[in-house]
Amino acid sequence: MLDGRAVAKDIRERVKTRAATLRERNIIPTCAIVLLEGDEPGRLYAEQIAKSGGSLGINIDIRQLPAGASTNDVLVAVADIVDDPHIQGMMVQRPLPPGLDAERIAEEIDPRKDVDGAHPYNQGLLVAGETFLVPATAAAVMELLQQPGVPSLDGARAAVLGRSAVVGRPVALLLIAKNATVTVCHSHTKVLPEITRQADILVAAVGKPHFVTADMVKGGATVIDVGTNYLNGHFVGDVDFDVVLPVAGLLTPVPGGVGPVTTAVLLRSVVEAAERSR
Ligand code: NAP
Repeated sequence: MLDGRAVAKDIRERVKTRAATLRERNIIPTCAIVLLEGDEPGRLYAEQIAKSGGSLGINIDIRQLPAGASTNDVLVAVADIVDDPHIQGMMVQRPLPPGLDAERIAEEIDPRKDVDGAHPYNQGLLVAGETFLVPATAAAVMELLQQPGVPSLDGARAAVLGRSAVVGRPVALLLIAKNATVTVCHSHTKVLPEITRQADILVAAVGKPHFVTADMVKGGATVIDVGTNYLNGHFVGDVDFDVVLPVAGLLTPVPGGVGPVTTAVLLRSVVEAAERSR
């Protein structure tokens, strides 16, 4: 099992030291999170970031807008944060409700404060192979894949299940940057198990509970489960954990895998943005 909590703890310790150094220079690392009322997973995530950030010396400023907020309301909140010199990091919690212009909103984020890699400039850098501010979940997947004891990515065959802008696509680009040979699968992919069975690295970001079964996994593969699905009162991943664990070489659990690492790398990005702000 690849324990995300232990990885997150290591990252947090280093982030805490860097945050303390910034504070000695009178810079209080601060990140604003724009959140829409009614986005329950978004609220839980933001509160988790705030709690963890507070313990590391990072200030998290949650700006909750009413449920019916318009694109313009969000843009006003974004502009306010962009103009605030005391805030070095910002993110707008995704996915935004249908009807809001997510692309327009992303364009108005300051690319230097864009700790979740949503701005088209940072997305473009990622396509070009630069990995400064990238979506936190994708960065977390890479962090897990580069832990000591995890087989090398160089030359490995990787299958990524999902092509969203937040997870699947950036993960695929980050894997390419590490010299993996990547196949991206989605809802139109034909005979998906034939692809996944060849993968040394399998990243599941589909959003369907227990989607990945043992017969889809190559023996000894490293399997990263990004899925967070609520099933029968529990959080479960996209991977059928109990049946895949004996087949996989390494497997991340849900909860306790990608989730805690995502929060930790997001806070690391806040510190990085703050370090570059002066
Ligand atoms: P998403 O935007 O809904 O994307 C899901 C992707 O899965 C799409 O690309 C979709 O294909 C693909 N897909 C759906 N059904 C499929 C099928 N039968 N076969 C192959 N591919 C299929 O979701 P997301 O935002 O990427 O999130 C994915 C999962 O990760 C969710 O469970 C989410 O809760 C979780 N998540 C976790 C974290 C964390 O920090 N742990 C962060 C973000 C998300 P199409 O493109 O063809 O529709």
